Amino acid sequence: MQHESPIVRRKSTQIWVGNVPVGGDAPISVQSMTNTRTTDVAATVAQIQAIQKAGADIVRVSVPTMEAAEAFKLIKQQTDIPLVADIHFDYRIALKVAEYGVDCLRINPGNIGREDRIRAVVDCARDNNIPIRIGVNAGSLEKDIQEKYGEPTPAALVESAMRHVDILDRLNFDQFKVSVKASDVFLAVESYRQLAREIVQPLHLGITEAGGARAGSVKSAIGLGMLLSEGIGDTLRISLAADPVEEVKVGFDILKSLRIRARGINFIACPSCSRQEFDVIGTVNALEQRLEDITTPLDVSIIGCVVNGPGEALVSDLGLAGSNRKSGFYVGGERQKERLDNDNLVELLEAKIRARVAEKAQRIDVKEEDV
Ligand code: SF4
Repeated sequence: MQHESPIVRRKSTQIWVGNVPVGGDAPISVQSMTNTRTTDVAATVAQIQAIQKAGADIVRVSVPTMEAAEAFKLIKQQTDIPLVADIHFDYRIALKVAEYGVDCLRINPGNIGREDRIRAVVDCARDNNIPIRIGVNAGSLEKDIQEKYGEPTPAALVESAMRHVDILDRLNFDQFKVSVKASDVFLAVESYRQLAREIVQPLHLGITEAGGARAGSVKSAIGLGMLLSEGIGDTLRISLAADPVEEVKVGFDILKSLRIRARGINFIACPSCSRQEFDVIGTVNALEQRLEDITTPLDVSIIGCVVNGPGEALVSDLGLAGSNRKSGFYVGGERQKERLDNDNLVELLEAKIRARVAEKAQRIDVKEEDV
């Protein structure tokens, strides 16, 4: 059963990345980025579709060359999720992908160079309703800022971000979001905190270069968890040296943990011990895989014995409390007469969960019809 999150969110303005609102009262969106060669259109389209299937709202694609910009045109035609083009320095690429329907430009105006070129990109973004993401990274601060601060500090990252913000302000362009990423959790968190006090635009969160799947997920959960629990953050990307699909899953897991945004099954499972009456770990792993396609939020508790089983089941949509041979089964917190055979739990639970999801979806449909 989903509970309200106690988090009070920072008030930000809202921009639109394609059909996805970012900031204001919009749900915190989850992004990922392709790691295929953009010029390999088929591979990039396939990866975008996999990322989308995992639930992402927005996908970023690197566009390092004009050849990649031409590939981007084809990729855009073959996909239907908002795409952000990641561009460094070359303003002509920005103009080109704008022509091809890009939904957001990730480009730092201060890196474009000549004033007329900056103006060309910003005017083009304005004319085509394309927002810009300013992306500051601790690993690539401007030389003079590096010299001034000696090392990346929160003040250094924010100063860098504000340089780009000031350029957009001067050109009267406010449709942007900003990120100040670092691989160090404390540096990133403090930078975002300071930036949140400086601007009203949406913030794109990320712990950059967080590491491999396990360590990177933990690092991201700690950093983004701190910020999100303070109400900071409007969209996020988890940066893992792993399949981008994993980034999306971890992003949603973080949002689910903070009760900010629910998607799919939220499994509540005990770690199991010698009291377990069935194979808890095997059951949960199998169900996680089988039920990946479900997007309806549902809390399902799978607990190995009656020590904690009934208590967790009381506050879950569906609950299982392990018992000898046949386990206790709960719906909406109520114990059912029917008990589930421990030898067949994965199949039985999958069927029960799918039935509950269908029921929930029907209730939502009826409600909408009432309206
Ligand atoms: S709920 Fe039961 S099986 Fe699970 S860890 Fe606790 S005592 Fe062990």
